[in-house]
Amino acid sequence: MKDERTNRHDHTHIAPDAPPQPRGHSHAVAPATFHLHPHAGHPHGQPARVPASDAAIAVDGVCAGYFGRDVLDEVSFTVNRGEFIGVIGPNGSGKSTLLKVIAGLLPVQCGSVLVFGQRPSPEVRHLIGYVPQSESVNWSFPVTVRDVVLMGTYGRLGLFRRPSDADRAAADAAIAQVGMQDYTSAQIGQLSGGQQQRVFVARALVARPKLMLLDEPIAGVDATTQHAIFTLLEQLKEQGTTIVATTHDLSCVAEWFDRVLALNHSVVAYGKPQEVLTSETLSATFGSHVLVSPVLPA
Ligand code: ADP
Repeated sequence: MKDERTNRHDHTHIAPDAPPQPRGHSHAVAPATFHLHPHAGHPHGQPARVPASDAAIAVDGVCAGYFGRDVLDEVSFTVNRGEFIGVIGPNGSGKSTLLKVIAGLLPVQCGSVLVFGQRPSPEVRHLIGYVPQSESVNWSFPVTVRDVVLMGTYGRLGLFRRPSDADRAAADAAIAQVGMQDYTSAQIGQLSGGQQQRVFVARALVARPKLMLLDEPIAGVDATTQHAIFTLLEQLKEQGTTIVATTHDLSCVAEWFDRVLALNHSVVAYGKPQEVLTSETLSATFGSHVLVSPVLPA
């Protein structure tokens, strides 16, 4: 669990020979608002320079973190529309934080994020389906699978409007899309981790997002479910959805992702799987903690 009460970053996983940690800029964080602060290249009071871009995501010189300490240190990369991007890196390297920044859930302290050419806003938020890590969810909440998926329509409806029959039909279609139709009335807390993941994917899908952000979608699920989740994401990609997924599982990287972002607070490498999955890049990203050999395409 992340500890919001402390001001400390857990870097104990990083080997002594790992890349240097971020400089730990000190900021007064205002979590509910987006603001820029003085930083190299971004004069005080001026908007960050925004790339004229058709990209699905344009992240430019972004610093972001918690309680005044940066977890992301000048991160820049772009994602083209319809790409399937994997984000890899050791625990605590900022993968989840990066997704939260792109989703508009966490403010940037410097730099800028554009999603489909727009800065974070409620309108942009509706284009994004965000699937959090299943461990970050309180599963004891007594709601059914359909209730959870219907929550995905609230962005359009507003919290206090009752879902219509059309919303229920859309929720049921999304539940079927992830193969959970036999569990529509099941309590979410009684499902396995893999089933909960699929329900959360359905909750994101019901709003028909143009961009899907998935935080560790295959963590703790068996190989069959992993394959089912990636197959579904691949289908969404074929329909034009842009997808960014974090993963600690390097063995799936070459098989599924168009490009891979290796992150350790800053960008270590970004490119095609075969360019990023080199022992040099992996040890620069993970230090001595790489325990598996990535499977490269033939
Ligand atoms: P990853 O997804 O790569 O494991 P995270 O983005 O979750 O990394 O976390 C990066 C760092 O930020 C860690 O040191 C973590 O402890 C810290 N952190 C993450 N979320 C919070 C939070 N809500 N409050 C305070 N610190 C956090």
